[in-house]
Amino acid sequence: MRQQDLIRKVLVVGILVLIVLLVILLACLITNGTCSNAVNNGILPMNSAAPTAVIDAENSASPEPAESSAPVTETPEIVTPEPTAVPTEPTEPPEPQGPVIPQSPYPSIPYCVTEGTMQDVHTRLEYLKQLPKSETIILLDVGHGGFDGGTVGIDTNATEADINLAISRKLAEYFASKRYYVFMTRMGDYACASDKNSDMRWRKNVMKLDIFDISVSIHQNALGTDRSVCGARVYSYKNGTEGEKLAKAVIEEITKISSTARKNVYTGNLMVVREPICPAILVECGFLSNHDEELLLQDPNYQQQLVQAIADGAENYLKSR
Ligand SMILES: [Zn+2]
Repeated sequence: MRQQDLIRKVLVVGILVLIVLLVILLACLITNGTCSNAVNNGILPMNSAAPTAVIDAENSASPEPAESSAPVTETPEIVTPEPTAVPTEPTEPPEPQGPVIPQSPYPSIPYCVTEGTMQDVHTRLEYLKQLPKSETIILLDVGHGGFDGGTVGIDTNATEADINLAISRKLAEYFASKRYYVFMTRMGDYACASDKNSDMRWRKNVMKLDIFDISVSIHQNALGTDRSVCGARVYSYKNGTEGEKLAKAVIEEITKISSTARKNVYTGNLMVVREPICPAILVECGFLSNHDEELLLQDPNYQQQLVQAIADGAENYLKSR
């Protein structure tokens, strides 16, 4: 009997414990539906994540309105990045197109040759001597060259010799486009001889040849004392000469494209206008001592306008003879 009593007591205690647990469970369900409250009230160990979340919320600034209450209709703005300018290498403006040069009726003697060595210059001269007298040949004297750079631009250090060559090459093409043969005293960056005296003597000998119809010398001016002085000038040897007529015809065209060009013809006892046996002019295209003109004279578009004016003026003179 004692063993039966013991078993009965254990069963009763067990049932009581079950009943107590059931009551607690029911109480939980009735009050909150879940047992989360009981957990947070310390009945169960604290969830470590909960306080962290609270601290985060307290430390953060006021909630972003866009996140908490953004209207549903508001669509996020698509920000397209501003097209950033891709830096490109500065490109030189394209060289202006030169005139169309016709084919010479003499295959070995083109209307113009603008590039070559001093030997090529000599060869060219021998070919031109073979042309019949009826053909018009223009002596184009390209000032300075090689060791003799001529005057130098004050702001850009550009040499007169380089500008003379650039302008003369374009001018030769314009004369050639009008079916005039052109002889250039140099066709590259070199002097015509080993020293200045020999260079001048060689040019003078060429100017004495009786094969040319007109002579045009190309130079650039400079005036160290007054940088405001500018403008193209055309020189002839003396008043009342054919050279003066040629100079008038040329400056008339230049003044159409340049407001600073001097309208009157200058005269001077200068080798390049004195020595040629044909009508001769010296074109001082502008002043390298003047800031604006120094830049202008290196502008291929202005060079093109200038040579067109010189060629048109020379053509007017040649047709008026
Ligand atoms: Zn010069």
